[in-house]
Amino acid sequence: MSPQTGQPVLTIDLPAIAANWRDLAARGAPGAVAGVVKADGYGLGAIEVARALRGAGCRHFFVACLAEGLALRAALGAGPMVAVLEGFAPGEDGDAGLVPVLNALSDVAAHAAAGRAAGVARRAILHLDTGMARLGLDAGEQARVMQDHGILAGLDLIYAMTHLACADEPQHPMNAAQAARFTAACAGLPAMRRSLANSSGMFLGPGFGSDLARPGCALYGINPTPGAPNPMRQVMRLDAPVLQVRDIPAGASVGYGASWVAQRASRIATVAVGYADGYLRSLSGRAMGEFQGRPVPLVARVSMDLTTFDVTDLPDIAVGRRITVLGGARCTPDEAAARAGTIGYEMLTGLGARYHRDYLRG
Ligand SMILES: *Cc1c(COP(=O)(O)O)cnc(C)c1O
Repeated sequence: MSPQTGQPVLTIDLPAIAANWRDLAARGAPGAVAGVVKADGYGLGAIEVARALRGAGCRHFFVACLAEGLALRAALGAGPMVAVLEGFAPGEDGDAGLVPVLNALSDVAAHAAAGRAAGVARRAILHLDTGMARLGLDAGEQARVMQDHGILAGLDLIYAMTHLACADEPQHPMNAAQAARFTAACAGLPAMRRSLANSSGMFLGPGFGSDLARPGCALYGINPTPGAPNPMRQVMRLDAPVLQVRDIPAGASVGYGASWVAQRASRIATVAVGYADGYLRSLSGRAMGEFQGRPVPLVARVSMDLTTFDVTDLPDIAVGRRITVLGGARCTPDEAAARAGTIGYEMLTGLGARYHRDYLRG
């Protein structure tokens, strides 16, 4: 299928995602390396991404919620571990064989009771909070389990996991503190494998290795080492078609609020992408697009479906050509995010549903 006239094209480079996973897998060795594909694979398509990762050798997947897990299981079939970070009630996954992450003592009690009743231990991951104060057994709950391992009877705990709050800040004291708390908590529990690092955590050094790393953003080309060069490949590009080009005189304004006024006679290209597509309104007047390697400045406000670029110096831009608005060398998700006052994660997960999606398969 080819894009409709006026439809933006989202190109997703699956071999590049697989290559990013292979690089991380080499870094995670001897531990295993999962693929985090929550939020529809960070906006790029969980099923397509997971199939590509499985082809590269990935056997462990994490999603956020039950619906994502069921869809992934249906697509991947039996075999790979599919863990649900937000957990679910015992039996709620039917016969899909999903692995719940147990985030509180009440989750532990419910799944353990179901396992004892069925006479078959329930596979699960035990989440220990070491400093996020979001989900996971808190210190008091951890102490109760340490005092009475019987609480865990009926469970087959395949991993203990924790999540780092500040892994993207290598010097932050939280990193070592959380790793130490995790080690101490695991020492008081029955022996089980451990899962610690997210993408950035994998770059913190040997103290952050574990039996299963859980990278997400780095797979998708977001820099896991902010402030240092990005070790990952870019994996996506968003090209928006030019719907019209018009000449305006000096002094004319463009767009809502008349917020941008031409300082010279200008050529303005209107392209079919806007904040309804996840091209954030906070990029207004500050983003850069790209055309055949050359920068194209965004001018005026981003509106719901349309954005305007100043193409006065790019005479070859005409109706029907596409301007790269995200994923070019000058407009990576991280770069656009910095201009919009957010993070690359939000740029990707906010991508809308109106694109023609073109999956490169290598
Ligand atoms: C989202 C998430 C990850 C992946 O984090 P990245 O920073 O994208 O690598 C890992 N573990 C947990 C618990 C998460 O919620």
